[in-house]
Amino acid sequence: MKNYKNPDANGYYGDYGGAFVPEMLYPNVEELQKNYIEIIESESFRKEYEDLLKNYVGRATPLYFARNLSEKYATNIYLKREDLNHTGAHKINNALGQVLLAKRLGKKRIIAETGAGQHGVATATACALLGLECIVYMGEVDIQRQAPNVGRMKMLGAAVIPATSGSKTLKDAVNEALKDWINNPVTTHYVIGSVVGPHPFPDLVARFQSIISKEIKEQLFEQIGRENPDYIIACVGGGSNAAGTFYHFVDEENVKIIAAEAGGFGVESGKSAATTFLGTLGILHGSKSLVMQTADGQVIEPHSISAGLDYPGIGPFHANLFREKRAEFFSINDDEALQFAYELTKIEGIIPALESAHALAVLDKKKFKKDDVVVICLSGRGDKDMETYLKNI
Ligand SMILES: *Cc1c(COP(=O)(O)O)cnc(C)c1O
Repeated sequence: MKNYKNPDANGYYGDYGGAFVPEMLYPNVEELQKNYIEIIESESFRKEYEDLLKNYVGRATPLYFARNLSEKYATNIYLKREDLNHTGAHKINNALGQVLLAKRLGKKRIIAETGAGQHGVATATACALLGLECIVYMGEVDIQRQAPNVGRMKMLGAAVIPATSGSKTLKDAVNEALKDWINNPVTTHYVIGSVVGPHPFPDLVARFQSIISKEIKEQLFEQIGRENPDYIIACVGGGSNAAGTFYHFVDEENVKIIAAEAGGFGVESGKSAATTFLGTLGILHGSKSLVMQTADGQVIEPHSISAGLDYPGIGPFHANLFREKRAEFFSINDDEALQFAYELTKIEGIIPALESAHALAVLDKKKFKKDDVVVICLSGRGDKDMETYLKNI
């Protein structure tokens, strides 16, 4: 079996990855490349990080056997409850890890980008806790769409700076954050929110999120006496919850992997975010991967009902799984995600994030056997999506 888990020394997963950054960012990126593994693998870092995960974030999150859902789909469905983390999603696993790392690199100032505001909130939370200055770049349009999260970030002490170029959404916020980093290379760490960006970010973020699959293995063993499920399913925006959910299973041949992308109004509709279906090889935000772009390389504006999946690229880890057919990719449309959000709420009493509902909707696309063990990552909770849910009732 190949090694799908770790990139090579230059940050490549097969043909995807690398570090494509302006020369002025070389020192920052090199500093991280040289130090990240040694620091995050050190005993003192692990001790501090694991203590916070347990006592501050609330890990381990439960692995819940969803009896009603299992009955309906005539198989055995387990939900990994990342929705129960402090701040409501998996993003805190990474934000906390990176802010701790930044402290150890002697940084005083943290910058981040955010789309829906979830990563911004997680980063602002970690900075409040650990006493670092926090600046969050956010598209002007997103600031208007996501007012509650903007309020949370401000209350947590972060400065929220609007990105006013281009479409005034996530990709423009990333560009602003990169500009800031170029101007403040010594004092500042850029906390990227998914398994995207120049090497080592995809690997760094995947390592912090890999706690998800580590726990799944332990919990499955405890509950049913085996470590590996037959299927493991997660939604993919940039791909961080999916990378964490797949991490300890990608190199286990007998575990089948399924990724759910945002189809929007449908992959043919012109309003979609299904990057593996629509993307071509390109460079976006510092790494080589699949990108939704025109023939001359202009990034195409994506669409998804869930702001967290509304991204025109996909992390190199996942592009490689797609290329090598190690994972099966489904594209889930807005209406299918909504339907499954309502279904889970009604039969299990759990209101999921719209992003996570894309992973659940795979249950309608794929027939599982009665004895199959199917684990689905419930990446976040639905509080932030209530307005959308009530509008579409
Ligand atoms: C941000 C977010 C996602 C998508 O990001 P990934 O990096 O692909 O995990 C998925 N689910 C929730 C709840 C999110 O907040």
